[in-house]
Amino acid sequence: MKIQQIIKSFFTICLLLLAIFSHAQQTKSDSNVHVYLLIGQSNMAGRGQVDAESKQIDPQIIMLDSQNKWRPATDPVHFDKPIAGVGPAISFAKQMKGNNKNIKIALVPCAWGGSPIKVWEPGASYFAAHLYDDAIARIKMAMQTGVLKGVLWHQGESDNDSARAKLYVKKLVALVNRLRSDLQMPNLPFVAGEIGYFNKVNFINKEINRLPIEVANTAVVSANSLEHKGDSLHFNTAAARELGKRYATAMLQLQQMKTTAVQKPAAVVLCFDDAEISHYTIVAPLLKKYGFDATFLVCEMPLKAKSDTQYYMNWQQIAALHNMGFEIGNHTGHHKNMTKLNREEMKREIGYIDSMCKRYSIPKPISFAYPGNRADSLSQVVLKEMGYRYARAGGSRYYHPATDAVLELPTFTMGSTEKLQERTWKALKEVKPGQVLLFTIHGVPDIAHPDYTTSVEVFTQYLDFMKERGFKVVALRDLGKE
Ligand SMILES: [Zn+2]
Repeated sequence: MKIQQIIKSFFTICLLLLAIFSHAQQTKSDSNVHVYLLIGQSNMAGRGQVDAESKQIDPQIIMLDSQNKWRPATDPVHFDKPIAGVGPAISFAKQMKGNNKNIKIALVPCAWGGSPIKVWEPGASYFAAHLYDDAIARIKMAMQTGVLKGVLWHQGESDNDSARAKLYVKKLVALVNRLRSDLQMPNLPFVAGEIGYFNKVNFINKEINRLPIEVANTAVVSANSLEHKGDSLHFNTAAARELGKRYATAMLQLQQMKTTAVQKPAAVVLCFDDAEISHYTIVAPLLKKYGFDATFLVCEMPLKAKSDTQYYMNWQQIAALHNMGFEIGNHTGHHKNMTKLNREEMKREIGYIDSMCKRYSIPKPISFAYPGNRADSLSQVVLKEMGYRYARAGGSRYYHPATDAVLELPTFTMGSTEKLQERTWKALKEVKPGQVLLFTIHGVPDIAHPDYTTSVEVFTQYLDFMKERGFKVVALRDLGKE
């Protein structure tokens, strides 16, 4: 046997084993084992005094220990610090189990005393641990045994001051969206809890309570009337158990609602106009990093001076964007005002880009952008005849599929000038789940047209915001499929 053949058969066997192994793992998980992820800081970990009740074993309630082994759940469920004691976990599990003899509740403790919300991010470390990454690894392990049913979060004491509280909701929303996206469960129920009312100041509960307004399938449980253990910081044993029951009530409500209230995230369509050189040098690599799609609507811009070619992409660069997976659309051959053209001239201008795409092995465009947002009924008829499915105009409003024509899609203009930044942020912040928001974007940055520039810095902030909110960022060709 030649060496290549040996290597080849070795890899085939490896792939086969891998396939068998992952199949076995997938089929092993038991739908009667209900897994819950417990995250946050000390009051989720539990600091209540361990008592006789803590030692009782219920064969239907198990926990994943520090060695990633399942064993009967007893307090302390957590192992973040030697002082770990009674938390909300077991009383939560008891109520979730109810009288159902067929199910098991599997607790995955991952909370860590003292941790601020900023360390609950991928890559962030907290002392020797990586709280977010470790939690993801443990929960994925647990999901080989059972089915993940929800997440409990109790945290906020370490962010309970006026400065940190202001940033809290944004971070919490990002955490929920990130968990859902990393676990590929877009509607995973998530219940947060208020911090004890006995804390000497309280900036954070107001912020925590905003979560259900910002994100679907989330809830917040009250800490009203729960007592501390004498330190004005930690719930006592009875309070921790009561908190667990409140978590269970909220979780059961979310799980019942879940079947009816499945919400799609907002979708954002990015349309880049004018074949600006920065689309090739800056935008495309940046979008790839975020995993976002986009449509590049190209034209051959009439140049004022020959040296102006430096501002625009050539066709090899446009073809490279297509090869990266982005959609190439049509912005007329030479940036012509469509309303000033007769039918034949329109066909020539649209057809020019079609033929250039063909020459560079780019699929025939189906998306179009009206230069200067000038659209009329004749141009729509001609576009339709020439096989175009989507055309974007202006309008500075959201797209409403029921009332807006796909050949005259409303878009907002993105930018980083003071005026355009205000409009862009407003559009991004006020878009609702299930709504569609389209943007027209010029150069990032735009040297030739500074009025329409978006600086790289601000553009990155917009992308970060879209990522944090869990928006689906798509190309025009995917409209209606988002
Ligand atoms: Zn243009």
